[in-house]
Amino acid sequence: MLKGKTAVITGGSRGIGKAIAIKLAEMGANIVVNYRSSSIDEVLTEIKAFGVNAIGVQCDISNSEDADKLIKTAFAEFGSVDILVNNAGITKDGLIMRMKDQDFDSVINTNLKGTFNTIRSASSIMMKQRSGKIVNLTSVVGITGNAGQANYAASKAGVIGLTKSVARELASRGITCNAVAPGFIETDMTGALSDKVKEATLNTIPLKKLGTTEDVANLVGFLASDLSNYITGQVINVDGGMVM
Ligand code: NDP
Repeated sequence: MLKGKTAVITGGSRGIGKAIAIKLAEMGANIVVNYRSSSIDEVLTEIKAFGVNAIGVQCDISNSEDADKLIKTAFAEFGSVDILVNNAGITKDGLIMRMKDQDFDSVINTNLKGTFNTIRSASSIMMKQRSGKIVNLTSVVGITGNAGQANYAASKAGVIGLTKSVARELASRGITCNAVAPGFIETDMTGALSDKVKEATLNTIPLKKLGTTEDVANLVGFLASDLSNYITGQVINVDGGMVM
């Protein structure tokens, strides 16, 4: 379904990004996996098992020059950038009265500025191609807010505004831009939470279970494919009914 397409996934070394990279490879795309510090040899081996080409690009997407290099490397290697998934994200939780400048800035710079950085670089390539699929990872807390996550929720709400603006700006060139809002997905990011917090969260989920990385990857696969051609500027939750 994505044969011959080039997909760039930020933060693809583990968690949701890794599952997305594997899903898009299974659908036939050549994959460019970005990561910051982890080793990705195993991820690349898993991806290549689907018979597609894959490269890893280490860079910090909050740095605009690095992000630009990521997109240019993808284009130089495969000749197109058809799918861009902005998945890389971090948390630095804390109550607002004690939140340090650095904890606010680093979360905004990675989650929001990083997403802007890669979209800005990819947009000129996609505009020339007159096609492209951009999928940004936001979060349900970008819609609802969350105590202790002012920085993270603000960054994810920012991603929603960015998504809708890009969708409007690039629509005439055949480019779609949508956001995926996961609820509570089992990854390293949520693994750090206490059992008490997990239990309390479970009670707010109508489907009474945590999501898997594959649940999120399945939606991203759909949004990256031609099946979603008439969908743009949307925020779609993958949250077991947590927010409705
Ligand atoms: P993880 O913490 O498991 O993985 C984060 C990934 O992002 C890693 O690959 C990491 O690379 C990469 N990364 C972090 N900072 C940078 C950076 N500056 N430049 C490049 N790569 C970076 O996160 P999840 O898989 O849980 O989350 C993925 C996305 O989904 C995030 O945007 C998150 O906000 C969102 N989300 C997750 C939810 C959940 O329940 N897990 C819920 C809602 C949204 P490295 O391994 O090298 O550090």
